Amino acid sequence: KNVPQTVLVTGGAGFIGSAVCRHLVASGKYRVVNLDKLTYAGNLTSLRDLDGNPNYVFRKADICDTDKVRKILADEAVDLVMHLAAESHVDRSIDGPMAFVTTNVVGTASLLQAVLDHWRSLGEEARKRFRFHHVSTDEVFGDLPFDSGVFTEDSPYKPSSPYSASKAASDHFVRAWHETYGLPVVLSNCSNNYGPYHFPEKLIPLVIANALDEQPLPVYGKGANIRDWLFVEDHARALEAVMTGGRIGESYNIGGRAERTNLEVVEAICALLDARRPRNGGRSHLDLITYVTDRPGHDRRYAIDPTKSEQELGWTPLETFETGLARTVDWYLANGWWWRPIREQRFDGTRQGLVAAK
Ligand code: NAD
Repeated sequence: KNVPQTVLVTGGAGFIGSAVCRHLVASGKYRVVNLDKLTYAGNLTSLRDLDGNPNYVFRKADICDTDKVRKILADEAVDLVMHLAAESHVDRSIDGPMAFVTTNVVGTASLLQAVLDHWRSLGEEARKRFRFHHVSTDEVFGDLPFDSGVFTEDSPYKPSSPYSASKAASDHFVRAWHETYGLPVVLSNCSNNYGPYHFPEKLIPLVIANALDEQPLPVYGKGANIRDWLFVEDHARALEAVMTGGRIGESYNIGGRAERTNLEVVEAICALLDARRPRNGGRSHLDLITYVTDRPGHDRRYAIDPTKSEQELGWTPLETFETGLARTVDWYLANGWWWRPIREQRFDGTRQGLVAAK
């Protein structure tokens, strides 16, 4: 088969998936088939730049529907699969865990079944080149103390939330399909992403949107929880590197070497907005910060050691947290057409509001 290779991206209408679709198509090396159920988090307007592009096609499907997925894999002659489709919001997983079990656990196993049949049907050369790349999170490793430790690929799995437990289970299923059936898999576990087209229930876009609307900026507990942050386009580049260069059966940690407390993140956004969009009366956006009751089971700190990805794959982020955050704030300032309708239709501006409204 001639290049470009056909990549099936599941969850391509989501935040990271849409960045992956844009990145792979722009490289000119791939034809991308975006398979997505279009849940509340899926949004095809994030991909309007690809409308009419001959190397991009959208197929609406649920990963739990094994027969339909099997047919799409065959019809589209898929060479590689990158699996991002998931329920992804920790707060929602606390309110309604079963959707996370259905999509993240059962859905991943159903997808693996369809992919295994497809892989077995390929000719020898295509079977050798085939990869199933499972995209996962650092949250599977659980909680670190504030002042020490870091997750490596060998860290034990110790998930705390229904979300991270469901992702941990999916990682195990992917490894099992490799060990048991020989499916050529690679895995990656990444820290918190941020950037354009991020659904405005997540911390960074929520804080930007609330600040612009003069609404409270909710911070859990004292804002002391620490996350490592990575700009979404750097993650998309890392994912291509893992899919094409990762060793079969291995997992790769991906992170930005950018640990920040939640309060530092919110303060950085306020400083950027104070400079770009001063409030009436000259007060800082910092005045809008409101401390809310902490999330149950809230992990203190996540920290990723990305050395293996850097050394084996030659990947390193292009953005620092400061440059990436400035790009993100500028994107939200310029692209209200994308996030305003989402917010106005389905969201009352609080962290819990979206869950309650559903
Ligand atoms: P997202 O919620 O923005 O997007 C998820 C996409 O999956 C949506 O388009 C949705 O419609 C689709 N989807 C959901 N259920 C489906 C189903 N049953 N069948 C088909 N499609 C379905 O999520 P995201 O933030 O882009 O995360 C993508 C992946 O990356 C997830 O697997 C997540 O666990 C992982 N991840 C996310 C982060 C992060 O910071 N956002 C960090 C590390 C890993």
